[in-house]
Amino acid sequence: MPAETLPPPARQALSVFPEVFGGRTPELLAMAPGRVNVIGDHVDYNDGFVLPAAIGFNACVAAAPRGDGCIRVRAVSFNETGQFSLADLRPSARLRQAWLNYPAGMAWSLREDGFDLTGADMVLASDVPIGSALSSSAAVEVAVGTALHRLAGLELTGRRLAQLAQRAENDFVGMNCGIMDQFISALAEPGHLMLLDCLSLAYDLVAVPADAVLVIGNTKASRSLVDSAYNERRAQCDDGLASLRTGLAHVSGWRDLGLADLELLRTGGRNVLYRRARHVVTEIQRTMDTAACLEDGRLDEAGTHMFASHESLRDDYEVSSSALDRMVALMMSAPGCFGARLTGAGFAGCAVALVAKGAEQDMADLLVREFPDAHHPVPDVFVSEASAGARALGRGDW
Ligand code: ADP
Ligand code: MG
Repeated sequence: MPAETLPPPARQALSVFPEVFGGRTPELLAMAPGRVNVIGDHVDYNDGFVLPAAIGFNACVAAAPRGDGCIRVRAVSFNETGQFSLADLRPSARLRQAWLNYPAGMAWSLREDGFDLTGADMVLASDVPIGSALSSSAAVEVAVGTALHRLAGLELTGRRLAQLAQRAENDFVGMNCGIMDQFISALAEPGHLMLLDCLSLAYDLVAVPADAVLVIGNTKASRSLVDSAYNERRAQCDDGLASLRTGLAHVSGWRDLGLADLELLRTGGRNVLYRRARHVVTEIQRTMDTAACLEDGRLDEAGTHMFASHESLRDDYEVSSSALDRMVALMMSAPGCFGARLTGAGFAGCAVALVAKGAEQDMADLLVREFPDAHHPVPDVFVSEASAGARALGRGDW
């Protein structure tokens, strides 16, 4: 792949490397994308189905091995360099530079699984918007994981890489996320969404319909609530499921539940848990239905499911915000929009719309014109291709 066809952060990582590391040249370039989830939010950690695609923004790592068991990382986005020793990694000892916990967590998680890593010098550059619900964190984990195991000459499947990246984020970073972000970043196929069964980790690829595109609108709203609310929602779901399992002998997990079963929570006076559970049960069904609609070209119906998902996240799961509701309403008002919803954990970040091909630029113009007011900035709007998952190039490939 000639250097000029590499994504911009890949070129940046390669060119910065000798400046940071005393004239050394990198031996390997690893890339992993962010993602947009078309439908199926807050269900990956509830054994549901999700339908994400990789986006055309990547975390890129240029790397060369070191013989001393030390890992040094330059984060171009933060203009900082950090380092740690492989032998000293402990989840309980969080590193002072918050961003460094993602690469360190990935190294820790690989070593915990028996991978004998070498030290490394790495430059990390990424154009995945940070903290915008497009999963910049998983892109970093998967790119670093790809670089580290390849540098050590080890074999690792995409599925295992995703699981180890999730473990890094859960146990080292301390964010209790599900498997979706890491899985799609590791295993995405260009031109396709992935219908992922988060229980078995089996998946089907669903082609992006030829007559539709995805438009992403970033509200750029502050997301300070996300981590605490995320963990609270998880705990509520676990609590609700535990009650339902106690009351209903046939239930072992969310997939065994129908709406009628959930009445048990309502009659028990646990209305918040009832609404959380209703989101989970209906969202799992909507996600499977949306994949089937997209496969058959029923785009209007797919869009109806997407907006129903937004309403469920807003009203039952209570993770929307005025900025996300405003973005979704504007998307829905645009000609050619089949459906729109918040994407990812919610509270802030991005909404996604399924739009008739040819109508995307008019939607983008509408969002840029009508979203801003006294409380909302000019949004970033991206028209997204479904892109490839993680990959690595050796010296000579660029
Ligand atoms: P997101 O929705 O983008 O995944 P998270 O809060 O899960 O939001 O992850 C964002 C964090 O991931 C950042 O605060 C930083 O610690 C790390 N991160 C993301 N992108 C980069 C980057 N380009 N360089 C270094 N660290 C990054
Ligand atoms: Mg994240």
